[in-house]
Amino acid sequence: MKILIAEDDTTSRLTLAATLKKFGHEVTAVSTGKAALQAWQRDVYPMLISDWMMPELDGLQLCRAVRSENRQHYTYVILLTALSGKDNQLDGMDSGADDFIIKPFDEDLLLARLRVAERILELHEALRTEATRDRLTGLLNRGAIMDFLQQSLERRVREGGDVGVILIDLDHFKQINDQHGHLAGDAVLRESARRMQAALRPYDRIGRYGGEEFIVVSPQADGSNSAAIAERIRSQLCATPLSTPAGELTVTASLGVSHAAQLAEPAPDRLVALADAALYEAKRGGRNQVRLNFERDD
Ligand code: GH3
Ligand code: MG
Ligand code: MG
Ligand code: MG
Repeated sequence: MKILIAEDDTTSRLTLAATLKKFGHEVTAVSTGKAALQAWQRDVYPMLISDWMMPELDGLQLCRAVRSENRQHYTYVILLTALSGKDNQLDGMDSGADDFIIKPFDEDLLLARLRVAERILELHEALRTEATRDRLTGLLNRGAIMDFLQQSLERRVREGGDVGVILIDLDHFKQINDQHGHLAGDAVLRESARRMQAALRPYDRIGRYGGEEFIVVSPQADGSNSAAIAERIRSQLCATPLSTPAGELTVTASLGVSHAAQLAEPAPDRLVALADAALYEAKRGGRNQVRLNFERDD
C-alpha cells in the first residue's frame, strides 16, 4: 500500500518508515504537515499516518484539510500521538481521523491496525465502483460521466483549452432486440462499449448515458479534434461484425458532437443538448455518421 507519513521527529519518522517498508509498503515520509498536504494533493495515497504535534500545520489541521477536499479515493488517516486521554481522542476523531497509534508504536499493533485499514479501504473501493459503474457494460454510469464533464469544465476555467462532448446512439438497436432477443442486444451493448473505449485516447472518458446511448468527454479536445475522435469511434464500431450469442451482428451508430468553447458559459446539460441536436441531424442524414454542432453563443 502507498503510505504517506508526516512526522517532524526524525527518529520516529525513520523508524516508522523502515518498519512499513520492511512489510512491503511503499512509503513517502515528510517532516511537516504542509509538505504532507502538498504530497497528498499531488498523488493518491490510500493511507496517511500523521503525527499530531508538528509546526506549521499540525496533525488535526492536516486531517481536516484532507477531509475537506472531495477526492475520488478515500484516504485512511491514522494519527500518531504521544497524547492520550479522552478529549484528545475526541478532537482527533472530530477532525476526521480513522484511528490512533500511541508513540512509541508497538509493531504488532501497528500491523494489526493496517490490516483493519486495508479491509475498510477495500469496502470503500467496492462501494465507489458500485456507485459509478454501469453494470452491463462496465463503463462509467450516467452520474459518473456527468461528474467528469463538470470537473473537466471546472479545470478548463483554471487552465484554459476546450472540452469536447460526443453523444453516441446505436442505430436501429430496437431491431436487434426484436430480431435476436434481449440477450443478443445486451451482448451488442457490451461489445460496442469495449470497442468504443478502445478507440479513445487515455485522457478521454466514456460512460453509458442510458439504454443504447453513450457519451464521451474529451478534455483538451476542440470541436474538430472531438469530431475526429467521434469519426474514429464510428468507423471502429462498424469495422467488423460483433460476436453475440445470436451469431455475428453488425452495428452502426450516429454521433453528435459539441464543445465547451462554443458556449459563453458552458454547462454539462447545455453541452449534451447541443450534442443531442447534432445527433438528431446525423440520424436524419441517414445514420452511421458524425455531425458537429456549429451553433455559437455571441
Ligand atoms: P434509432 O436508430 O433511431 O436510434 O433507433 P433505435 O431502435 O436504436 O432507438 P429506440 O429508441 O427506438 O430503441 C432503443 C432500444 O434500446 C429500446 C430498448 O428496449 C433498448 N434497450 C435499452 N436498454 C437496453 C438494455 O440494457 N439491453 C437491451 N438488450 N436493450 C436495451
Ligand atoms: Mg511532532
Ligand atoms: Mg436512443
Ligand atoms: Mg438508437
